[in-house]
Amino acid sequence: MSDLRELYQEVIFDHYRKPRNCHALDCANHKADGYNALCGDQVSVYLKVENGIIEDLSFSGSGCAISTASASMMTEALKGKKLEEVEHLFNEFHQMVTTADEVPHEDLGKLEVLAGVREFPARVKCATLAWHTLHAALKDQQQPISTE
Ligand code: ZN
Repeated sequence: MSDLRELYQEVIFDHYRKPRNCHALDCANHKADGYNALCGDQVSVYLKVENGIIEDLSFSGSGCAISTASASMMTEALKGKKLEEVEHLFNEFHQMVTTADEVPHEDLGKLEVLAGVREFPARVKCATLAWHTLHAALKDQQQPISTE
């Protein structure tokens, strides 16, 4: 188990050091900002949605390793996905990091490396910040979202 944990940490730190899709998106037609006061994480999520599909997405901001890695992995996982699939993955991800049961979340693929945060309740907000911000962007919520 500890080997697996090390591998997971490796993946998280890789995304933290080299975040994927970390830039503003000029062609975005949805955007929202999120803030996790507990940790100080800030994230903006940019989406280009056409015909119910996320054609492109990106994020910018600054935060801890967990929030940055989670945002980076989210953008990789959701590119090209239909909005129904995105909703499904959001729910799966949220369930994975907030409930203790060890049900496999096959649909989440690589995102499963973040499952460990469920043991650290304060970190759950870091891991879900980008996802909540994505949700707000899809709803064109103008108010910056806060995890409080
Ligand atoms: Zn954080």
